[in-house]
Amino acid sequence: MRWGRSLLAAAMVLAWAMIWAHPASPTVQVAEGAPAIRLLLVTATAGFRHGTVETARSVVPALGAASGEFVTTIVAEVADLGQLNAETLRQHDVVMFANTSGNLPLDDGQKAALLQFMASGGGFVGTHSATDTLYDWPEYGQLIDAYFKEHPWTREAAVNVEDGSHPATQGLGWSFRITEEFYTFRENPRPNVHVLLTLDAASVGSSGDYPLAWCSTYGSGRVYYNALGHFEGTWQDVGFQQQLLGAIRWAAGRTPLGACGGTTPPSTPTPQPTATPAPTATIGTCPVRPRVALDLTRPAPGTLEVVVSATDGPSIAGNLLRRIAFTRLANAEVTMGSFIDRRAAFAVDLSPAARTARFTVERLDAARAVHVDLTVTDGCGTWNTFVGVGTG
Ligand SMILES: [Zn+2]
Repeated sequence: MRWGRSLLAAAMVLAWAMIWAHPASPTVQVAEGAPAIRLLLVTATAGFRHGTVETARSVVPALGAASGEFVTTIVAEVADLGQLNAETLRQHDVVMFANTSGNLPLDDGQKAALLQFMASGGGFVGTHSATDTLYDWPEYGQLIDAYFKEHPWTREAAVNVEDGSHPATQGLGWSFRITEEFYTFRENPRPNVHVLLTLDAASVGSSGDYPLAWCSTYGSGRVYYNALGHFEGTWQDVGFQQQLLGAIRWAAGRTPLGACGGTTPPSTPTPQPTATPAPTATIGTCPVRPRVALDLTRPAPGTLEVVVSATDGPSIAGNLLRRIAFTRLANAEVTMGSFIDRRAAFAVDLSPAARTARFTVERLDAARAVHVDLTVTDGCGTWNTFVGVGTG
């Protein structure tokens, strides 16, 4: 009986998803006349309480109202958690844990109801400390795919977009910068999820693999988590709100499932105009980020040879390097071919067919480490590479 019901539910969800899927366009949104998604927003905290809990409670419903795409029911505090039950879940499409924390007092019936909701095709969206929640319930950890470990970096850093084709990442380009409290997790979730965003470890002077947002499935249900959301500025950020809206659409099954539901169909990059906007702007999206190598050598004290090469990537023909911008080059001189510049920040447009850019940074300040912060634009987007150089 149970199997029959869950199979039926899965078939209905699949049929519904297929109705909404629109293979010709990865940016398909909710069709006109579609009923609004019903979002159950949980902001209860039993551990550390972020000031942005209140922000989430205003931003998320406002996002639903402004887009017309979802209506929000709020389970605000621990005292309200009784509302998180089978009956309420039946009336919603997506549950969102926004900056929840600690061991929320859910009884066995509530836990079973949430897992059943997910297994039978529900959607789950978690932000930031949603992974700092319910450590005492391992099934929740399996649902959200990770538990918070620590936050070694609270600062501005670069975030790389690994998959720009997901509804939650469309329009972000290859990379963006944001001031956040960046999380690490007890175990890297990568083996169990489809990673959407990663911390550009070099941008915080580190190395390693630090997924920040991902999607996965739970039975017939869809799970999305985004580790950003510590600061007020993040919740007010249009890019973050776009991610949430896309994630809610996806979690509700209103978009193609993308890589979380199978494979991401590759698409041909759209030709971009040669004029490039400001370095951090986005000039397009591609389904797969090309790999770019940064090769550094120090031929002499105070001198740095830098070679940026587009080395591979399935759509590399459309992803040739177009422009390199330098910032924070205090007291240095950059030479690239006949080009010499001494300003702290400037950009160089490359020849249309460039796969490699070679330049030399000289007269580096010998007294302290100099930071070379590159912004590179290719045919698909703009991304950042941060290089710290000690010249002493
Ligand atoms: Zn935080």
